[in-house]
Amino acid sequence: MKPRGIVIAIDGVVGAGKTATARLVAQRLGYRHLDTGAMYRAVTLAATRRGIAASDLSALEALLPLLTIDLQPGDQGGRVLLDSEDVSEEIRHPEITRKVGSYADLPLVRRALVAQQQRLGQEGGIVAEGRDIGAVVFPDAELKIAMVADLDERVSRRHRELTDKGVNITAEQVRSDIETRDRDDAERDYGIANAVTEVIEVDTTGMTLEGQVDHIVALAHTNGA
Ligand code: C5P
Repeated sequence: MKPRGIVIAIDGVVGAGKTATARLVAQRLGYRHLDTGAMYRAVTLAATRRGIAASDLSALEALLPLLTIDLQPGDQGGRVLLDSEDVSEEIRHPEITRKVGSYADLPLVRRALVAQQQRLGQEGGIVAEGRDIGAVVFPDAELKIAMVADLDERVSRRHRELTDKGVNITAEQVRSDIETRDRDDAERDYGIANAVTEVIEVDTTGMTLEGQVDHIVALAHTNGA
């Protein structure tokens, strides 16, 4: 057992509620929340601001060691700090969402971020989420969860989430973005070709956020948390 508690790895489809669920599970257990997607988004934002395309590997290689990405807990959602600037809202913008895959595909980006994630998880007491989390980042996680939900429900949740934040986007656009990302995700490897063992699938269709959190906290308790 790690000194601060177990490692909980949460994977799942786009819009299944991973981020909100992971944050609240972490709060309930007194654990840290590691939103790996936010880290890929922060790199995408940093590169975009400097006009560095995903194809410009040497510029990216020079940029990565200069960036400081910090994830800080907060009641209304974790804050993401890029070189001490709070970019929590900006990294969720649809433009970044559309671009993030091309940066996240690059081995040099993945290597840098996975190393940072593993350092953060070393002592345990962490709820980590992301596509490669159970297979690549924390293959020894004590609890691995895959969250799924129906497409319709994922669209309406994500649409509500974005409009609540003042983003002007139609449900059709959200649906098309989710479908594209589902297709991309299905084609991507994320280094997860090696089967992930003992994943517990949680179907959140029709579940409330609170219900999802209760369910995963209960699983955490039966797995040593
Ligand atoms: O989870 P979120 O939607 O914020 O992730 C944004 C993007 O970052 C994903 O669509 C994926 O391209 C990338 N990502 C990744 N590996 C992770 C987490 C996210 O490649 N562990």
